[in-house]
Amino acid sequence: MKTIICGDVVPGCHTMIRAETEADLLHKVSDHIRTAHQLNVTPKLLEKARGQIRDAAPSDAGSQ
Ligand SMILES: [Zn+2]
Repeated sequence: MKTIICGDVVPGCHTMIRAETEADLLHKVSDHIRTAHQLNVTPKLLEKARGQIRDAAPSDAGSQ
């Protein structure tokens, strides 16, 4: 599970976004930035976002 805080890319936003994979996460982030912030998602912005991705510890949702 990967997470990103939108505010690490777009200052002032507290939205946290989660996804299973980095690719999926970047996709969701682009979507959020486009719709919520009405910003153009440039390769540079995506690059910045990629640098802010964290691995989320799988908390207590552990059923195998
Ligand atoms: Zn945001």
